[in-house]
Amino acid sequence: MTREYLKKATLTAKSDASEVHDIVKTILNDIEAGGDQAALDYAAKFDKYEGSIILSESEIEAACRLVPEKLKKDIQFAHDNVKRFAEIQKSTLTDIELEVVPGVITGQKAIPVDAAGCYVPGGRYSHIASAIMTVTTAKVAGCDRITACSPPHPGVGVAPAIIYAAHISGADKILAMGGVQGVAAMTFGLFGLPKAKILVGPGNQFVAEAKRILFGRVGIDMIAGPTDSLILADGSADAHFVATDLVSQAEHGYNSPVWLVTDDRALAQKVMALVPDYINDLPDVNRENATAAWRDYAEVILCADREEMAATSDDYAPEHLTVQAADIDWWLERLTCYGSLFLGEESTVSYGDKAAGTNHVLPTSGAASYTGGLSVHKYMKIVTWQRGTREGYKPVAEATARIARLEGMEGHARAADVRLAKYFPDEEFD
Ligand code: NAD
Repeated sequence: MTREYLKKATLTAKSDASEVHDIVKTILNDIEAGGDQAALDYAAKFDKYEGSIILSESEIEAACRLVPEKLKKDIQFAHDNVKRFAEIQKSTLTDIELEVVPGVITGQKAIPVDAAGCYVPGGRYSHIASAIMTVTTAKVAGCDRITACSPPHPGVGVAPAIIYAAHISGADKILAMGGVQGVAAMTFGLFGLPKAKILVGPGNQFVAEAKRILFGRVGIDMIAGPTDSLILADGSADAHFVATDLVSQAEHGYNSPVWLVTDDRALAQKVMALVPDYINDLPDVNRENATAAWRDYAEVILCADREEMAATSDDYAPEHLTVQAADIDWWLERLTCYGSLFLGEESTVSYGDKAAGTNHVLPTSGAASYTGGLSVHKYMKIVTWQRGTREGYKPVAEATARIARLEGMEGHARAADVRLAKYFPDEEFD
């Protein structure tokens, strides 16, 4: 490896995990013991909110009326694309049946979990798209009872566009509560909600820690850390596009890493010169986020050739991966570790984040080395079954009894013995 760091991160995306753990554990314990009132107290403390918690139909309708028609069409467009993509994903999960030995049939079924809790972040930005991504996918999977929860803002409540998006995507209940208290309410079944069997959706470190602690008693999609993005660009890339795309992802948060990996020093230098200007041109909050993310977490890495660029990218296993380089097919074939891949300068992470149809709830912090993002499959239980004839099971029973005895599991062996004795009384088995 000849990687040269033209810019190196001074921080890595790790919060004070033990401090966050203690805070979240206390909140979860308090809410489990204190129920609805404890959750309300935390909502008042963290979000200064004391309005409706479970939105009524008329409150949902009123919020929907506040959404401009053009935005409604855009949300519907994004929803339809996410739905179509989820439907084709679901079609790949067909039930299967195999006669594994003559007379013994084994099978697999995909069963949706019946209650999903979808967390829609809303602290820093109103993540309309997260409502579409989580709720639509749960609906297509076949979850019967879907709750969407999102943090309310003082005196305002949940952003109307989030309510609209969750509603048209298929949420049965909308909970105006965020953070740990929102996650707890869906998990413990507070305010008359169904107890979630799976919790999905991105969120800040408190939300992520709550999901991590609760995992086991409830399923989760993944533990999402701060958003990260990597761009692979060669000399053919448009420096203006590369810089714009890096800034677009750095605005997520002060600790959202963006990385540029290139084999072209001139391109790298041009991009590094452009980025600060583009950041300065953003609105206030976005500028603060992107400035800190670029200063502390961003990296620009110069490689010898495209093979080294690909290997570097796979080492980082980014959540979002963009290729702005020649020979797109080579990259699609070669790259193996990413949450979602954006090929060619025509595509950009923003499209996937908002409206192109692929899911934006993706593995962060290197988790793309072992998992993909949110899909219909995360809401489905892949279960197996079997049945068979007495004759068909005979060799299975004999093998089972011998293996079980060698393991020292006499009870298991006898479950096979009694069947052999009943169905084949005239035969001896050893
Ligand atoms: P959020 O909804 O996750 O968190 C807001 C909640 O945090 C509030 O309701 C409050 O209750 C709680 N909170 C705030 N300070 C607290 C404290 N000190 N103690 C306990 N609770 C506290 O919204 P956010 O903060 O804007 O974070 C959203 C996150 O989601 C970002 O990190 C963003 O990058 C991420 N995100 C990721 C994806 C993805 O697909 N990976 C997509 C969208 C957003």
